[in-house]
Amino acid sequence: MKQYQKLLLGFILGIVAGLIGYYFLPQKTYPFMKTFTDFCTLTGAIFLRMIFMVVVPLLVSALILGVYELGKGRNLGKVAGRSIAFTLVLSFLAVIIAVSLTSILQPGVGVTFDKAELAKNQGVLTISKNVEAAKNKPWYQYFIELIPQNPVDSAARAFGGEIIALMVFSLIFGYALSMIVTDENNPLIKMLDTIFNASLKVIEWAMLLAPYGIFAIVFNTTYRLGAGFLQNVAYFAGVVVLGLLIQQFVVYGSFLKIFAKTNPWEFFKNCKEVYVYAFSTASSNATLPIALEAAEKTLKMPPQIARFVLTCGASANQNGTALFEGVVVLFLAQVYGINLPLESQLVVVLMSVLAGVGTAGVPGGSLPLIAILCVSVGVPAEGMGLILGVDRFLDMCRTTLNVSGDLVITKLVSATVSQKDIEAAKSFEC
Ligand code: ASP
Repeated sequence: MKQYQKLLLGFILGIVAGLIGYYFLPQKTYPFMKTFTDFCTLTGAIFLRMIFMVVVPLLVSALILGVYELGKGRNLGKVAGRSIAFTLVLSFLAVIIAVSLTSILQPGVGVTFDKAELAKNQGVLTISKNVEAAKNKPWYQYFIELIPQNPVDSAARAFGGEIIALMVFSLIFGYALSMIVTDENNPLIKMLDTIFNASLKVIEWAMLLAPYGIFAIVFNTTYRLGAGFLQNVAYFAGVVVLGLLIQQFVVYGSFLKIFAKTNPWEFFKNCKEVYVYAFSTASSNATLPIALEAAEKTLKMPPQIARFVLTCGASANQNGTALFEGVVVLFLAQVYGINLPLESQLVVVLMSVLAGVGTAGVPGGSLPLIAILCVSVGVPAEGMGLILGVDRFLDMCRTTLNVSGDLVITKLVSATVSQKDIEAAKSFEC
């Protein structure tokens, strides 16, 4: 059985068992159910904490390496500048779509929730008090706190709302590294690369536990809430897919038309093999070779630009992931009845854009960042369990957009720089 089938099975069994429990085995009449739900809390917590524990090393190494890669390309002049500018603008638009759609369609509203019961079940993380704290802060404090006083201290308090400061540190440090390191074999680069890969290995192990963790979390939720929340999960998946479609056809379509004077339909049609590959592997990194080939052979884009944008983009430009993360956090806030103030929504936007840069291009690469995002705005991270059962399908969809975004940016950059800039880009080695 494939991993995603196991996850789906865990999700379905969790729902079925939870519903049986909800309708036929109420805890008041059957005290042994208390022991069973406690056991599920334990299993769910172990699974999620396996992911949480590598968040800091993974995020720091991914961001430093991501910016280092981009910064290395500064000699590419306009090519790198345009790539970064398009990446940021398109990611920002993706997250704005996410926030708007989720706020308007409200997929998480209407789950009947027993907050006292919830409090008993928060065995996973100490939930930060950021929402409360946010109310008493002057506006400029947010900007001051973006710059860490001490990155080690921020790392230690990553789950207490200091993660953005740590991300900002990693961005600045990565750029500084790109200025002083010219040798790929530099020991620090090698070390960061090793930390990044070892963290991914731990996530892989956590994923072995995932079917049981998902069963446990979904069971506990269904047992507490009954069938109502399933509708919300389906609605949530619909909102994500709608957002991805808007980004692909409206945003990318208009950018291609306006900046590259290209017929978007033709362009998308020529990308279809890459889309199928991205969809089925759910991994931007695994799709990279196919994307490179299509960019040169089918789409006839300059190879030197394709090589730079697609290689960096496979790990540093993930619009679909940024959009998904925005929807998840707001959806979970709605499920838990947490009213996010404007400042927290801005934090979601900013962090989702950065998360698009810091997410590994592998299946489920965005999960650790979702945990961090949730905690940063005071949303219980264990809520992630609610969406994990449908995550593989959504991962396939968002990865397709991620890869599509890389190809679109390649086209936009090729169409907006001069032949001289394209020639200058020849020196780039990835
Ligand atoms: N699977 C995605 C990718 O490879 C990352 C994620 O959103 O989990 O692009």
